[in-house]
Amino acid sequence: MRMGIKTQKVLLLEELIEKAGGCAVVDGGFATQLEKHGASINDPLWSALCLIKNPQLIKKVHLEYLEAGADILVTSSYQATLPGFLSRGLSMEEGERLLQKSVKLALEARDKFWEAIENVPEHRYNRALVAASIGSYGAYLADGSEYSGRYGSDVNLDKLKDFHRRRLQVLVEAGPDLLAFETIPNKLETQACLELLDEEDIQIPSWICFSSVDGEHAASGESFKECLDIINKSNKVNVVGINCTPPHFIENLISKFRELTEKPIVVYPNSGEVWDGRDKRWLPSKCFGDGKFEHYAARWRDLGAKLIGGCCRTTPSTIQAISKTYRDLTGLKTTGRQGRGVKEGEA
Ligand SMILES: [Zn+2]
Repeated sequence: MRMGIKTQKVLLLEELIEKAGGCAVVDGGFATQLEKHGASINDPLWSALCLIKNPQLIKKVHLEYLEAGADILVTSSYQATLPGFLSRGLSMEEGERLLQKSVKLALEARDKFWEAIENVPEHRYNRALVAASIGSYGAYLADGSEYSGRYGSDVNLDKLKDFHRRRLQVLVEAGPDLLAFETIPNKLETQACLELLDEEDIQIPSWICFSSVDGEHAASGESFKECLDIINKSNKVNVVGINCTPPHFIENLISKFRELTEKPIVVYPNSGEVWDGRDKRWLPSKCFGDGKFEHYAARWRDLGAKLIGGCCRTTPSTIQAISKTYRDLTGLKTTGRQGRGVKEGEA
């Protein structure tokens, strides 16, 4: 039975990529879009604050990305952590409910959108999958260490596993289609995530994404070979990739990853602006518009990336541009049906 669930979810992901013409579209920046709608996210909890204050806005942003053509929604739990909620005076139960809510809001948006579009003739959408976001330990610290990988000498494997464990359990129980570990900066945290997936016997697919600040190494300076060698041994991680990294590094990184792993590759870079973790602001540098992003995204697809989207400072219009490019390239017309009976029967 458990194998059945695993098989079904992995097949759903593979089938989505296939239906999308070999490369599916991940959504874009979340906090960026919340801010655009007037949400204040100047807080250590960042976009997770919105789970408390304005959950309907989160759903609205998910719907905007679906409309733009996202095949995968990433939940608003990147910086939502139980220690983070506890430090804001919430109880453990309240914190867990908020984590569940992040998944529920994305699932509801997906179902609502699909119900509305499913029977529209000649529509070009796929039924989206929901990836529960698990931000790195550095994202919780909110001190920029997810881009340096320097967690300090008191942070060891067990501490990282303890940090991630309960959130992982709660998110999985809420029923997402997959897990997205994001902005992982070093080998130690990679190892922690892998061990947790095994220890918790997680039965849904997952991806692990790294950040890179030099376009060559993980944020910690460790080589991607070191990080990917350990991931390659795990059958719990289905996809590996890069997020929140400037777009001009991505081409090189896809080529590098292709040499280091046979797992499918996901990339969702930021807009190219640089986040100053100490001053907590975006430094305008090498920023470029959606047109250029879209041009790059076509290259990334040609280089073999299987999932492509945007991270910080990208918007629904970025995602729409990517989605349109891919659908035009493949001449994709979906049939309006995602699941084939045989796959559902295996569950
Ligand atoms: Zn980002």
